[in-house]
Amino acid sequence: MSFNDLGLDAALVRAVQEKGYTQASPIQAQAIPAILKGSDLMAAAQTGTGKTAGFTLPLLHRLNLGKPVCSNRVRALVLTPTRELAAQVHDSVQTYGQHLRLHSAVVFGGVKINPQMMRLRRGADILVATPGRLLDLYEQNAIQFNDLEILVLDEADRMLDMGFITDIRKILALLPKQRQNLLFSATFSEEIRSLAKGLLKSPVEINVSPKNSTATAVEQIIYEVDKAKKTSLLAHLIKEQQWEQALVFSKTKHGADRLVRQLTSIGVVAAVIHGNKSQNQRTEALAGFKQGKVQILVATDIAARGIDIDQLPQVVNFDLPQVAEDYVHRIGRTGRAGAKGQAISLVCADEAKQLIDIEKLIKRKFQRQQVDGFEPEHNVPHTAPKQKPAPHNHSASPKANKSKVAGAKVLPIKPKASKNIKAAEPGNRAKSNRRPRSSGQRKTA
Ligand code: AMP
Repeated sequence: MSFNDLGLDAALVRAVQEKGYTQASPIQAQAIPAILKGSDLMAAAQTGTGKTAGFTLPLLHRLNLGKPVCSNRVRALVLTPTRELAAQVHDSVQTYGQHLRLHSAVVFGGVKINPQMMRLRRGADILVATPGRLLDLYEQNAIQFNDLEILVLDEADRMLDMGFITDIRKILALLPKQRQNLLFSATFSEEIRSLAKGLLKSPVEINVSPKNSTATAVEQIIYEVDKAKKTSLLAHLIKEQQWEQALVFSKTKHGADRLVRQLTSIGVVAAVIHGNKSQNQRTEALAGFKQGKVQILVATDIAARGIDIDQLPQVVNFDLPQVAEDYVHRIGRTGRAGAKGQAISLVCADEAKQLIDIEKLIKRKFQRQQVDGFEPEHNVPHTAPKQKPAPHNHSASPKANKSKVAGAKVLPIKPKASKNIKAAEPGNRAKSNRRPRSSGQRKTA
């Protein structure tokens, strides 16, 4: 559908055309008219579907019809789970709103609060924020919500996974009752549905698959390898297969740092993003990667969430994620914008349970492969090991495993044509053990 037919202000259609979009994506075609009408919305959509423009364009249109914002007030609030996503959404607000006279701002933690307080003095028609910093600013009287017209929860599932539910409920209690609510989430667990129930009034429901589930496909490859040989296998693949760029996921911040050091020592240009890095360091690493100066970007899940990098050919799970759904989010980073992508997982014996959980979630069994010279001494079991009770685990969500995933379309796994790669024997399917997640815990990446 053309943007001209959606009822948007001409200044917005112009901005979209200048950006080079010709047709509205499915989520935009459905969400824009509903939001323009003033309806509440519940949308199942991941990054990559065009969801940001899907809510930003009608938001800007509606705000442009109303009265200008007063000082220290906000008319539309967009909550996001991470700083990166907040910055990215705010960029979109600025791009699409460039021909309108609306004022926007973005606030997140990890940087000084004073400049943000100064910026909020004149008010913001649209404020993009992470929950914790927003509450800090409210407590310091830098922001008032009396004039709030529209609330957007972006990547709501991730906000709950990160333990933001208490902050979100605190924020909701501060907002005027009469308002429009838009909720975007990649998945709809029971927790999200319960949040939606208390939040949304007769919402329009939209469910779309990401761009890469129709236009493109992700080839998924599992290499069995011992933990100690993962780095050398990664280096081997980077060089042998002449990768241009790859986004590599590490389970821990420490592991991510170590991997970057090891790659750098063999001449690979690598950078890292995780929660212990300053905002400037993260922005710099991401910019270097987007400009093609950095070949390998190593990230933890939360830091990488929502990052929009076009045409990424390669995603690597250096460690499998603890939560099976994160696998789908991770591989959703590749195969974008019509390009075919490859998602490679380096799996060691300790990760059998995670692998089996992923297979259950995406409802398919992987054919495992081994690379010559990197055959594991410790085989990856085909059944999940017995689980010891976990006293305290922040990340594994029992509900997460149950939810449906609007994930990337996957190609059947074919063993690589390459001579030095062998297919490993598939085995029996196993029962998955789920560990309870401690609630209310805030996680940093
Ligand atoms: P999002 O799902 O909002 O993260 O958007 C994913 C990517 O799609 C971004 O790079 C957008 O710039 C791009 N995009 C959004 N809408 C369109 C459209 N209608 N046509 C082409 N690209 C788009």
